[in-house]
Amino acid sequence: MQAHPIQRVVIVGGGTAGWMTAALLSRAFGPQLAITLVESDEIGTVGVGEATIPQIRHVNAFLGIDEDELMRAVKGTFKLAIQFNDWGRIGQSYLHAFGDIGLPLGLVPFQHYWLRDRHERGDAAPDLWAYSINAQACADHRFGRMERIGSSPMTGTRHAYHLDAGLYGQYLRQRCDPRQVRRVEGRIVDVALRGEDGFIESVRLAGGESIEGDLFIDCSGFRGLLIEGALKAGYDDWTPWLPCDRAVAVASERVAPMRPYTQSTARAAGWQWRIPLQHRNGNGHVFCSRFISDDEATATLLANLDGEALAEPRVLRFTTGARRLCWVRNCVALGLASGFMEPLESTSIHMIQSGISRLISLFPDKHCDAALANEYNRQTRFEYERIRDFLVLHYRATERDDSPFWRHCRTIDMPEGLAERIALFRRSGQIFRDGEELFTEVGWLQVMLGQGIVPQAWHPAADALPSAELDGFLGNMRTLIQRAVGTFPGHDQFVAAHCRAPH
Ligand SMILES: Cc1cc2nc3c(=O)[nH]c(=O)nc-3n(C[C@H](O)[C@H](O)[C@H](O)COP(=O)(O)OP(=O)(O)OC[C@H]3O[C@@H](n4cnc5c(N)ncnc54)[C@H](O)[C@@H]3O)c2cc1C
Repeated sequence: MQAHPIQRVVIVGGGTAGWMTAALLSRAFGPQLAITLVESDEIGTVGVGEATIPQIRHVNAFLGIDEDELMRAVKGTFKLAIQFNDWGRIGQSYLHAFGDIGLPLGLVPFQHYWLRDRHERGDAAPDLWAYSINAQACADHRFGRMERIGSSPMTGTRHAYHLDAGLYGQYLRQRCDPRQVRRVEGRIVDVALRGEDGFIESVRLAGGESIEGDLFIDCSGFRGLLIEGALKAGYDDWTPWLPCDRAVAVASERVAPMRPYTQSTARAAGWQWRIPLQHRNGNGHVFCSRFISDDEATATLLANLDGEALAEPRVLRFTTGARRLCWVRNCVALGLASGFMEPLESTSIHMIQSGISRLISLFPDKHCDAALANEYNRQTRFEYERIRDFLVLHYRATERDDSPFWRHCRTIDMPEGLAERIALFRRSGQIFRDGEELFTEVGWLQVMLGQGIVPQAWHPAADALPSAELDGFLGNMRTLIQRAVGTFPGHDQFVAAHCRAPH
């Protein structure tokens, strides 16, 4: 019970961030909060952001969303992994598959047994991904929902979604009870601050209407209308670590079969994404304007589509980095207003979700205690920086030297801690997750190996297992995974049977 509870929340922006915030806050607080969401049709939304990670399913659970209904509404497909092509070397491909890989034995993580097998059997040893049910399903374009593999302790498939960004926003909007969430269409032209403490008092629309609130959520996109425009939170530019600063995006005709994974293919001055949806493919080329022009980047994208382009390509500019503070006084920034890192690991929508859940757990009263804001900012910064390091790994650990861009990437100064992580893995095969960072050991393992970092050793306890037992242990796992995948239908068939979108 609070003496001065927040009663009026104003959300500025109606993109994925704005509507996700409205849906989750109204669900968490019910009629205690009167939420007003302001969006401008004239300005519109960023219109991209279509690949997710498995944590998005927590949003469904919290909102009581039926997964098949969601997939029909957003014309979605299932995502089991990201395929990285030509990143470490041209012609080489690897997966970052969701879910577990293999099983630990006692206290020794799985990769040490795999490394020993690899050493003993050389190229005859199956690769790491033979022990991932997600990766094996990707190889056959199959999909199934499975919690555990048979009666074994191995976890089953872990999935996320590919979804139409515009339809997802509309879907979340429909989930909001209009008695709790009032939508206002209009362009905000002014932000009024309170004299005594600089808190935001109200926002004023072009039509003259003024909207007051106790707490303001800035979901206004890259411009950060409140957090930067009014409150001058400051922005840390991370371009020295992640040099790409533009993307060109275009939809293309859908192709069959729909792959149950996102594709990321490195290009001469950036990389290209391919996201399969039920009605079209989403495509984009993320690039560095220091090394390639918009026209060249667009031509590269159009030359590498699976089907016909369905619209004119659209160029988006961004500065990779993070707002210095995402919570200032009575304003919290979420989504693109809080910062942006390229969609290499599909992390932005997740950061909206984790920002909202952090806000709910640190929810203030009308005074917005600075201790709550400080803790929010500390956790947000930690999450951002660890994801940044993971993305830098993809660029820095490359053998490519075929273009000025890739030669530049090989010389990027690594953020503190990343070089040590790589060195530890290279020397010992060891990976440790840093606290509650988003990516787990399995994610780091796949990307480090995929980018060509090969450990020189493994944990000595992995040698305790006699060779015949090691063979049996590894062979059983592969058999169980193959059998399980064999029971899955093709991804297209699964979508047709469970969640085909109406035409
Ligand atoms: C090239 C690219 C690819 C991406 N791919 C992915 C991906 O695959 N996966 C992923 O998770 N994320 C991805 N993202 C990020 C993702 O698109 C965003 O995190 C997500 O769409 C949320 O955006 P937003 O709601 O913060 O901003 P926006 O969609 O830009 O919405 C801003 C809202 O604010 C409103 N607004 C702005 N100014 C005013 C004003 N003055 N008055 C009233 N209203 C105003 C606008 O009308 C709009 O409603 C990508 C981003 C880019 C740039």
